[in-house]
Amino acid sequence: MDSLPDLAAIEAMDEADPLRPFRNRFALPAGVIYLDGNSLGAASHEVFAEVRQAAMEEWGNGLIRSWNSAGWFHLPLELGDRIGRLIGAAEGQTVVTDSTSINIYKTLHAALAMRPGRNVIVAEGDSFPTDLYMAEGVASTRPGVTLRLEGRDANTIEELIDESVAVVLVNHVNYKSGELRDMAALTKRIQASGALVIWDLCHSAGAITVDLDGAGADFAVGCSYKYLNGGPGAPAFIYAARRHHASIAQPLSGWWGHARPFAFERNFDGDAGIKRFLCGTQPILSLRALKGALSIWDEVDMKALRQKSIALTDLFIRLVEAKCGQYGVVLDTTRDGEKRGSQVSFTHSNGYEIMQALIERGVIGDFRAPSTLRFGFTPLYVSYRDVWLAASVLEEILSSGSWRDQRFAVRSAVT
Ligand SMILES: *Cc1c(COP(=O)(O)O)cnc(C)c1O
Repeated sequence: MDSLPDLAAIEAMDEADPLRPFRNRFALPAGVIYLDGNSLGAASHEVFAEVRQAAMEEWGNGLIRSWNSAGWFHLPLELGDRIGRLIGAAEGQTVVTDSTSINIYKTLHAALAMRPGRNVIVAEGDSFPTDLYMAEGVASTRPGVTLRLEGRDANTIEELIDESVAVVLVNHVNYKSGELRDMAALTKRIQASGALVIWDLCHSAGAITVDLDGAGADFAVGCSYKYLNGGPGAPAFIYAARRHHASIAQPLSGWWGHARPFAFERNFDGDAGIKRFLCGTQPILSLRALKGALSIWDEVDMKALRQKSIALTDLFIRLVEAKCGQYGVVLDTTRDGEKRGSQVSFTHSNGYEIMQALIERGVIGDFRAPSTLRFGFTPLYVSYRDVWLAASVLEEILSSGSWRDQRFAVRSAVT
């Protein structure tokens, strides 16, 4: 094995990092190494400026006029297209609205309606739970529809696909292990059987390069408050390939999805495009925060971002395995950088306590039950030096056993 880089070598990597200037755009507190941008992205000065402008000027002075004069009404589509650039979606196919959970509900129903006679939803047994909960909910409203799970009903999604499958709901990057699926290959395999695919991009939008159009995907959903830094509870996005727009029916047929919302007609006549996925009035202040966050993303070269993400995560794996392996932390993410998202997970039977001890020392990651220590690496504001320091603090906590203090065992509601 190569020898570990020293701090001087690490600092040279930061000097040479083309993304380094982005760090100053974020309002990170001093003394914090933030490795949880995969759960809640950091705030940027651009976001503060947008929120201030939206609240004080547009709402405060513009009042109702701002729906037109400040472009509020068009934000879902405008921001959708800006996210579209990051996920390989040409214009007019992505809209920002509601939460990922609700968007899963809408896309699952739409997909089932497009495949009459097929009554199976395939998903992953180790998916982020809300995806499964929403799939259960959809199945409960459609007589005959059942759920097949990878890891329960067969080992792989491929084995679960047959003529009865209408739709496969699948994560591009697994939220816990960071495993990355081959989007193009799996999309092809699913569509060859006549089924549709919904990609969950919660852990890939803003984290890695994504090419929905290139892969020929049918639908996608994802968060904007994780890697995209849109703020707590920022609305999610939906993508639907243009070829499907004419056949989409979704059950939450609210007035914002109507072709002519301000005609106030008695019956629902859905918009001909992606707007059909909107339901009711959108959270404008949250959308404006997201708009601020996306103004940074407009400048980002996604290939450079991906390269740095792999370098950061490689470095963290090497450092932690070398310094901490003897204390029982076990890598739960692939060593192959091309096959993981922008996160690294380790398991340890006292993962919760260790993470609390890390957070007290200013190294913020998170814990996922039952035993996962999860670290997200957001290349826009995490430096190689952060990675080096985080691994050193973890080593100190493990070698001293400081995590054994009682206060670290107290569980909070959000982990
Ligand atoms: C974070 C995450 C969600 C969150 O859904 P919300 O409706 O925004 O709470 C859904 N799916 C996956 C895979 C996630 O990682």
